[in-house]
Amino acid sequence: MTVPRQVSHWVGNATLHNRANSVLVNTDPRTGEPTSAVALGGAVDVDAAVASARLAQRGWASRPPVDRGRMLAAIGVAIRERRDEFVELECAETGKLDGEGRTSIETAADYFEYYAGIVRAHFGETIDLGSGEHAFTRNEPWGVVGMITPWNGPLSQAARGIAPALAVGNTVVIKPSEFTPSTTVLLARLASTLGLPPGVLNVVTGEGGDVGSRLVAHPDVRMIAFTGSVASGRVVARAAGDRLVPVTLELGGKSPNIVFADADMERAATGAATVCVAAGQQCAALSRLLVEASIYEPFLAAVAERVAARVPGAGLGPLTTRAQHEKVIGYFAAAREDGARLVTGGRAAEEGALARGRYVHPTVYADVTPQMRIFREEIFGPVLAVSRFDGEDEAVALANDSDFGLVAAVWTSDSARALRVAGRLEAGQVIVNGGAAGIETPFGGYKCSGIGREKGFAALSTYTQLKTTVVSLAP
Ligand code: NAD
Repeated sequence: MTVPRQVSHWVGNATLHNRANSVLVNTDPRTGEPTSAVALGGAVDVDAAVASARLAQRGWASRPPVDRGRMLAAIGVAIRERRDEFVELECAETGKLDGEGRTSIETAADYFEYYAGIVRAHFGETIDLGSGEHAFTRNEPWGVVGMITPWNGPLSQAARGIAPALAVGNTVVIKPSEFTPSTTVLLARLASTLGLPPGVLNVVTGEGGDVGSRLVAHPDVRMIAFTGSVASGRVVARAAGDRLVPVTLELGGKSPNIVFADADMERAATGAATVCVAAGQQCAALSRLLVEASIYEPFLAAVAERVAARVPGAGLGPLTTRAQHEKVIGYFAAAREDGARLVTGGRAAEEGALARGRYVHPTVYADVTPQMRIFREEIFGPVLAVSRFDGEDEAVALANDSDFGLVAAVWTSDSARALRVAGRLEAGQVIVNGGAAGIETPFGGYKCSGIGREKGFAALSTYTQLKTTVVSLAP
């Protein structure tokens, strides 16, 4: 049996001793072997981290953007230099395939390099009130930002928030998921070796009910950036509402993927099978496939073939947590009870060595109707729910028949239709014919998928508040 790595809080550029002496031992989703023993922090650790962040904030904010940018750029370079170490840790905790882990780590480095540059182009404006006044706006940081992240993309989601938040002069206390904190702690340690001042980036490990709720309630935390489930997002939003502090919520999805009969079948089928990336544990997964009636059966067969080709343990990773594994298996039962037609998969993968891990077979259900749970609820696994539609109006109605609104996709060779449909979809991001979003493109949800925007220039606004100054020019 391997001995788990100890993971504890990082506050003021030093490890904060695990006072409570209680740990969560995580196991590798691929093998069941222990990976990390994570300190379960409490209010006292959060308070220490917030105090450290508060102390550092004014000094950090007073530096010119170019200086803060240089520091972020150095972090990006350092992540790339230590890429293998990050990938190994990330894959051991999440179960990602090596290629998926590499993409996540590269993306994290990209965030630091991108915000290092664009913060220098984040200007206020002057407002013309006539020759007797001079009015201008300035983007100011909130102060200490409390950040909470989930387990499915630990480093890239941390970097998505940390990079823009630090770029504009905030300091950060982040609580990563208790299941996958190692790469976030490594990032903070690495940043301190590069000269990031103590207190600018702090990590407190532990559970949502203890560390997360104290972070959200702390009077010196002036802004909250939450990524996770709708249920936890509601709790966080309520707490933020009580304190009247701004909160961004990046929550779940049940994103529709609409395929019209005139689409490029090969590309659309390959695109539909991307639901299996990261074993379906992506907020942006296109987990509802809506197919025009005239091509329904042949297209379904083409997609099912591609999905089934993802062999568990080779082309398909495991579910990260035990609870997630059980949840996905629970949805197989729900689909059966609700009368969906099983095309492939629909069961745990327990053959040979796979039994030690948390694998399921990649799964496609057909003839899924809006009443079924697998149409409405986020499964967060390699499970595709396929429904049939007749014409544009029905496609849009089915796509929008959801409490979620994170992403939507359209496949058609008719560009006018693509734009018409895109305009009618209730989603924060619409992908046409497989377009690939980047870190430059704003991201966030409509409806229950969230509030606020991350990524792109939009994140610089998210992490700042606007101050207007008006000066009388009277002699
Ligand atoms: P989760 O809500 O259970 O946990 C997310 C984080 O919140 C964890 O760090 C957890 O410890 C913490 N937390 C839980 N309860 C809390 C509370 N009461 N107060 C403060 N913090 C609390 O979600 P999860 O299972 O870790 O992640 C999966 C979910 O995240 C999915 O719904 C997925 O779609 C969503 N997600 C969204 C995005 C996005 O950008 N929209 C990205 C990744 C994941």
